[in-house]
Amino acid sequence: QPSLRVAHLVKQYANADKPVLNDISFEVPHGKVFVIVGPSGSGKSTLLRTIAGLEPIQGGTISLNGEVIETGRPGTESAGRSKRSSALRTRVGMVFQSYDLFPNKTVLGNITLAPTLVQKRDKTEVEKEAVALLERVGLVDRKDSWPHELSGGQRQRVAICRALILHPEVLLFDEVTAALDPEMVREVLDVMLELADQGQTMLIVTHEMQFARAIADQVILLEDGGIVEQSDDAERFFTH
Ligand code: ADP
Ligand code: ADP
Repeated sequence: QPSLRVAHLVKQYANADKPVLNDISFEVPHGKVFVIVGPSGSGKSTLLRTIAGLEPIQGGTISLNGEVIETGRPGTESAGRSKRSSALRTRVGMVFQSYDLFPNKTVLGNITLAPTLVQKRDKTEVEKEAVALLERVGLVDRKDSWPHELSGGQRQRVAICRALILHPEVLLFDEVTAALDPEMVREVLDVMLELADQGQTMLIVTHEMQFARAIADQVILLEDGGIVEQSDDAERFFTH
């Protein structure tokens, strides 16, 4: 049973004369890590955004553990966000290139907001889990800090905790180190490598080729809105 299944996905933006993603199909098995590479403008960000439910799709389906969470509807090109319910939304986690944390909430407040508000979970239990997550990413001593007091690398690690606390079945990463100073890239990539070791299902867009080679179970090459290559040999993929 695949964890994430994308079947014949078609995505078109309003006022575009052709789809930006055309007939995309792939399956990410539970616990595996897929890396998506491809030139700028090939549709990598758009693909992650449709899986996260941030964009409606016009054809195909997106399923999680056999359950369809998104169905293509023609004519929704300018519909804004997809119609996915918030309960289904929390089953997919996403970390962005520059996902600004809520500036008026502390680190702990940022992480506990969605589980208490959307998932209606017990606040004490959620805070306990948030502290445990912060420990895992080496930031427990910053739990009462404000976002502006953190480095970019620290902020991305908090953003990862904020996604993880929702227990997503799949976690999406869109160029999460692209805006970081070089010395901070490693600390974020190390957290992602550890998540992979622990069996978190992930779909990653990155330009860090050494990292991609180390973490990928499968590599997907996207060009002009279509999959032109898929390989389970990352070593070979990144050296040829
Ligand atoms: P990548 O992440 O591979 O650089 P994107 O998914 O960001 O590619 O973009 C793919 C194409 O879709 C580009 O031509 C881009 O300009 C276009 N595009 C992206 N977002 C939008 C949008 N909100 N509205 C219209 N076109 C968009
Ligand atoms: P990325 O490739 O990382 O998404 P971009 O600079 O291409 O970065 O896009 C930044 C934002 O602008 C995204 O939210 C994207 O959806 C939107 N965008 C990109 N291209 C277009 C476009 N042609 N028309 C409208 N919005 C766009």
